[in-house]
Amino acid sequence: MDIIIPPLVLGSLGMILGVLIFLVGKYFGVEEDHRIDDIEKMLPKYNCGACGFAGCRDMAKALLTGSCRAESCKPIKKEDQENLNRYLDELLQGIPVTK
Ligand code: SF4
Repeated sequence: MDIIIPPLVLGSLGMILGVLIFLVGKYFGVEEDHRIDDIEKMLPKYNCGACGFAGCRDMAKALLTGSCRAESCKPIKKEDQENLNRYLDELLQGIPVTK
């Protein structure tokens, strides 16, 4: 009987903490702008830092604020660069975005 108590206590504790983490994440979590994900998907995702940012995600955030352009990304393909600039122009003009 004594051998069952520690797993039960630890299992119960784990379940309670799991539920608490879920609830805290649900009610206090900060949702990030989904457009950052959209922009990041259009970047090469090399995370090389050649653009001067820490990685592609930081570059995506900067693109969304309009503080830089797709040309800052050195390894991006010309076609992807044009698509990204068109997406950003539509975003900044408030036109419904077509990918
Ligand atoms: S230069 Fe392009 S590929 Fe490299 S980190 Fe910046 S956005 Fe990503």
